[in-house]
Amino acid sequence: MNKDEKYKLTFKKAWGHFKVVNKHRWMVFCLCCRVGIPLQGLLHDLSKYSPTEFIETARFFDKGDFSPIRKCKEVQGYSLAWIHHKNRNKHHYEYWYDYNAEIPSPVIPFRYFLEMVCDSFAAGMTYQGKKWTQSYQLEYWLKIKDKTRIHPKMRMLLEKVYTDVSKEGIKKVLTRNNLKRMYIEYTKE
Ligand SMILES: [Zn+2]
Repeated sequence: MNKDEKYKLTFKKAWGHFKVVNKHRWMVFCLCCRVGIPLQGLLHDLSKYSPTEFIETARFFDKGDFSPIRKCKEVQGYSLAWIHHKNRNKHHYEYWYDYNAEIPSPVIPFRYFLEMVCDSFAAGMTYQGKKWTQSYQLEYWLKIKDKTRIHPKMRMLLEKVYTDVSKEGIKKVLTRNNLKRMYIEYTKE
């Protein structure tokens, strides 16, 4: 099977991808409610239903246990869906990245930091399913952190959140007060 055939859009793939997006958004919504941003949770990732994002991502959908965007980047070298997505969604630090600015990657506002944390845990749970453990996010983060172009304070803050969850679990760590305290502590001057 050549590349074009293998990554052709089919109804089955579109449906599979649609279900994964909904499942992910539901998990993000539940976590966002925990940390006091229900409306943001409800509106999270709506751009995934836009044709630019939906069609490309569905084409690279496999079994729902791996990010189709990653697959697309491997095959195609880049992903238009991702470029579209990160330019519209403030919960991605890539949204804030500007290599030409004095601070290329700023400390992002608290409410988007909350959404980012909820998103990362929900993504891990969506793709890992039953294999998910509370240390998954930390392990994943340690693999990618050196590549990320994120503000050093945000980097330390995220690592602290993932480390705490790996030891104490989501219920204990992901509360608004706890995250607020950590955010203030890690982002102060
Ligand atoms: Zn997103």
